Amino acid sequence: MTMLIDGKLRPASDGAVIDTPNPATGRSLATFPDASATDVDDAVVAAAAAAESWRRVAPGERSAVLTALADVVAAHADEFARIDADDNGSLLREMRRDVDMAVFYLRYYAGLTLQMHGDTVPSEPGTLTYSVRRPYGVVGRLIPFNHPLMFAASKIAAPIAAGNAVVIKPSEYTSLSALRLGELAADIVPPGVLNVVTGTGAQAGDALVAHPLVRRLAFTGSAATGRAIQRRAAEVGVKTVTLELGGKNPLVVFPDADLDTVVAAAVRGMNFTWQGQSCGSLSRVVVHRDVHDAFVERLVAKVGALRPGLPDDPDADTGAIVNRGQLDKVLSYVRLGQDEGSRLCTGGDRVTDGALGDGLFVRPAVFDGVDPGSRLAQEEIFGPVLAVMPFGDAEEALRIANGVSLGLTASVFTRDLATAHRFADELEAGYVWVNEVGRHVPGTPFGGVKDSGIGREEDVDELLSYTQLKNVHINYGR
Ligand code: NAD
Repeated sequence: MTMLIDGKLRPASDGAVIDTPNPATGRSLATFPDASATDVDDAVVAAAAAAESWRRVAPGERSAVLTALADVVAAHADEFARIDADDNGSLLREMRRDVDMAVFYLRYYAGLTLQMHGDTVPSEPGTLTYSVRRPYGVVGRLIPFNHPLMFAASKIAAPIAAGNAVVIKPSEYTSLSALRLGELAADIVPPGVLNVVTGTGAQAGDALVAHPLVRRLAFTGSAATGRAIQRRAAEVGVKTVTLELGGKNPLVVFPDADLDTVVAAAVRGMNFTWQGQSCGSLSRVVVHRDVHDAFVERLVAKVGALRPGLPDDPDADTGAIVNRGQLDKVLSYVRLGQDEGSRLCTGGDRVTDGALGDGLFVRPAVFDGVDPGSRLAQEEIFGPVLAVMPFGDAEEALRIANGVSLGLTASVFTRDLATAHRFADELEAGYVWVNEVGRHVPGTPFGGVKDSGIGREEDVDELLSYTQLKNVHINYGR
């Protein structure tokens, strides 16, 4: 496959490629370009030139281009879902849903191009003071492996709608759908406005972060990489960096909540359908002592019944882990949890037999009696491992829920209005659900507090975040 740089589809200039295996079968799937710093420079220079004219294109026309891109993604929905399922190991039906979300966000930002307005500010007679929004120019976009096409398509929509040109680098573990998007976009998006470069984080990613012409960086990925990017960007210049990072998100269960409803929600909220590989996964369940035993019994029965399967299997509940490194990480946390004294109630072992034996499958795991201060409770695993810990009163629940460095999402289940409002107010997270899990309501701000990030996405603020305000003061009096 080839990259999209300056409107042309091309390999890496030195011909280097990366091999990508199918994590569900272990078989080689494809090779794709391993971009060098030179290739990234080509893309950024092309983007800088394109941005000069793109920002002058009328908002309605920018909107039409994004709408055309949405149409072509929708027309290739099954193909994209197939590519992502093969490349990433997640279930085909889930990856198909991702395509719908990608199309939705392309259309959503296409519809917002007229919302980039500034203000007029009262000033003395004979003067006029107003602000206007200007795009940055070149936006560097770095995305993770868990929702390949959904992020590749939806995370370019806002910066392009705002009049920027984009260079996007997908994860080296799931680059194929972004490359396919680039191929289709070549006939729709003006040359240089969208560039897709592939390669490793250490080489292509670093070159993008460190390029002096990239003034605006938006990163979705792990907290450790996010901090490294902030540091690296600051070495080069003053750059605006937004970060959508990891989570170790709590689900708090009060005894007045309906237990079956909460058990079902806990399973859904952990995103086992993506093998737990979701930043918003509610991976810590903090449950009141009065209902703890009954809750754990039902939770373990439900999670224990989840069936790993090949992405095509309509009866499968969970797919393959994306790569060997991630698999090893998950298995090492399962061992660590046991070493720390937590009780492994179900799962946590690799599937080594039958049709799944060559793939990277782990049975969904539940740990109980987890010490809130333990590493199992503190660190993001980004795998199918759920940690349960009991609490006695609301103060303790809040202490446990907020007692981690991350703060992306949180959920509380209760029928008591006062408790619901208190937790909505006091949970340290960017997105809080009450009697709900996992939903991203379109048009609402998604993002983290504390080490989970800076900035908000999926709403109008994401569009505005790709602009800078310029103030103009006119003295037209005599
Ligand atoms: P990662 O941080 O390893 O990689 C993300 C991207 O950054 C990849 O494209 C990678 O190539 C690139 N990269 C890596 N090192 C780099 C460097 N030094 N310079 C520049 N680029 C570099 O993350 P991952 O393993 O792909 O994804 C999992 C993580 O993403 C989890 O922590 C998860 O919580 C997080 N995530 C967050 C959100 C959110 O919206 N907050 C959404 C999805 C995933």
